[in-house]
Amino acid sequence: MKDQGFTTRLVHADRVINKPQNGAVHQATNNSVLFSFDNAQDLVDVFQGKTAGHVYARSSSASSVSLQNILNSLEGGVGAITFSTGMAAISATFLSLLRSGDHIILSQYLFGNTSSLASTLEGLGIEISYVDATNVQNVAGAIKTNTKLVYAETIANPATQVSDLRAIGQLCEENKLLFIVDNTMTPANIFQPKSVKASLTIASLTKYISGHGNVLGGVIIDTGLFDWSRFDNILPMYRGADTQQWGLTQIKKRGLRDMGATLSPDSAHSISIGLETLALRVERICQNALRLATYLHTHEHVQQVYYPGLADHPQHFIARELFTGYGGIVSIDLAAHIDPLAFLNELKLVLCATHLGDTRTLGLPVASTIYFENTAEQRADMGINDNMLRFSIGIEDVDDIVADFEQAFDALA
Ligand SMILES: *Cc1c(COP(=O)(O)O)cnc(C)c1O
Repeated sequence: MKDQGFTTRLVHADRVINKPQNGAVHQATNNSVLFSFDNAQDLVDVFQGKTAGHVYARSSSASSVSLQNILNSLEGGVGAITFSTGMAAISATFLSLLRSGDHIILSQYLFGNTSSLASTLEGLGIEISYVDATNVQNVAGAIKTNTKLVYAETIANPATQVSDLRAIGQLCEENKLLFIVDNTMTPANIFQPKSVKASLTIASLTKYISGHGNVLGGVIIDTGLFDWSRFDNILPMYRGADTQQWGLTQIKKRGLRDMGATLSPDSAHSISIGLETLALRVERICQNALRLATYLHTHEHVQQVYYPGLADHPQHFIARELFTGYGGIVSIDLAAHIDPLAFLNELKLVLCATHLGDTRTLGLPVASTIYFENTAEQRADMGINDNMLRFSIGIEDVDDIVADFEQAFDALA
């Protein structure tokens, strides 16, 4: 049989990969915190990693492992670890893999809380270079002898810069650097970081993957491409026979077990249900976003539209080559005579709310909310203007979204 399509594989994944009992098509949610063993040696073997199993639900449960298996299969990885939130996945990865004295290279266009986390890392003695990752030359120029990793997002939020991912992946391979890609904005049906030689994929499951604004989660997936035997921060006890598992083992023990931001079984189940319609939702969202961006692009009351699907976007050609859709974030700078908050207040269908990747279209003012803690200079570096509005496009019928914008413009003009 020829290779099945993305959604065909996805809706059958839980049944096929996790083999739930009695004909169930979903792995049952199991909230047991403890796991008992008839033979004490079996407990010892699971503890020591000699046999697979669960000992305590902070480290693993059948529900989280089932979701990990599905997410890993979508990315073609060698293993995945889920966390209670996307930020938990990111912080656990940095804190378990880095040491004081290491240097890391971060895209300067990062999710706000990730850059805030980076300043915590600086306080712990990790040296950071922020670079404009839309051009690989900037990344190459920042590499030092103590550089451990490069970290970038696919499409940045809110100004939609696209990282030069293929070239950065090549650069990291040549320099034996760990390459981490936050793929929250372009989930597996439109982009797989493994295709640009990423070592680890990180994603917030809260956004497009679960998709309905009802559950938090995060994941890290190892693509299997990085040679961990070259990463000298792996502790001796995590250097098992299979070098491909070294990174995940250390992240799982130090980042998940010790730091404790575990995904609950109920959340894992909710995420796996939302995930079944990922491609349907994301395709619709991308179509809606492109249509809205095109409408806004020529609008007299709009100064600037930020959307990688527009031909005049600075990284349109990178995005076109990498992704099968341009994502769901459309940001705009309104013309000076329109007050951004008044405009949001005139929108009737679009919700004024933070969050993104929802079924509903959401909008918020950027500088005064999610980038409120940053200085004006930092905002300028990230390409954020004071009057910028960010929209996360939903799955509504697109004519209704456009009509809502139109009536809001009419009300203020
Ligand atoms: C939301 C988001 C995160 C953090 O995810 P949470 O689940 O909210 O903790 C990380 N990266 C990106 C790109 C995000 O949009």
